[in-house]
Amino acid sequence: MANMTNHFELRCLSVPENVGLTRLAVAHMAAQAGFSLSELEEIKVAVSEAVSNAVIHGYPGRRDGWILVECQIADGDFLVAVEDWGVGIRDVELARQPAFSSDPERMGLGFVFMESFMHQVTVRSQLRRGTRVEMSRKPGRPEALTQDAQ
Ligand code: ATP
Ligand code: MG
Repeated sequence: MANMTNHFELRCLSVPENVGLTRLAVAHMAAQAGFSLSELEEIKVAVSEAVSNAVIHGYPGRRDGWILVECQIADGDFLVAVEDWGVGIRDVELARQPAFSSDPERMGLGFVFMESFMHQVTVRSQLRRGTRVEMSRKPGRPEALTQDAQ
């Protein structure tokens, strides 16, 4: 399993229906990487949060924005990237704070889930250019260990 390599890219429109679609595709590849069922559930939550953010925040009020989900198994690591070309994040560090949300109706917990369920989460964003969230997790190493912001 450690030498296994696999990769897919899925480009979809910014509609809420595609949260479930991308979650399933990523979970399917995560299963190939050797994660347990409970680990798969955690990865599904992390991916759902990232794609939901792209739909809700990246393209507010729009159903015609593109979202790219890249997923790969390489060198014993499992990587997922979720990218949009939407409005971008003004202050990534602030956005990643627990309970921070630009929408008073929301909990501001999406990044918290991503960080607790994945070993590494990197966020790159530029206003009016878009946002890319890269997450990785190694099978067989349960605790979330590192985080970094860019
Ligand atoms: P919750 O995820 O609990 O429903 P939330 O989406 O507001 O609430 P986070 O997912 O932690 O909380 O995101 C924090 C903030 O970061 C958002 O409120 C939004 O302002 C900003 N954000 C996150 N992802 C994106 C994105 N792809 N494009 C633009 N802004 C984003
Ligand atoms: Mg969110």
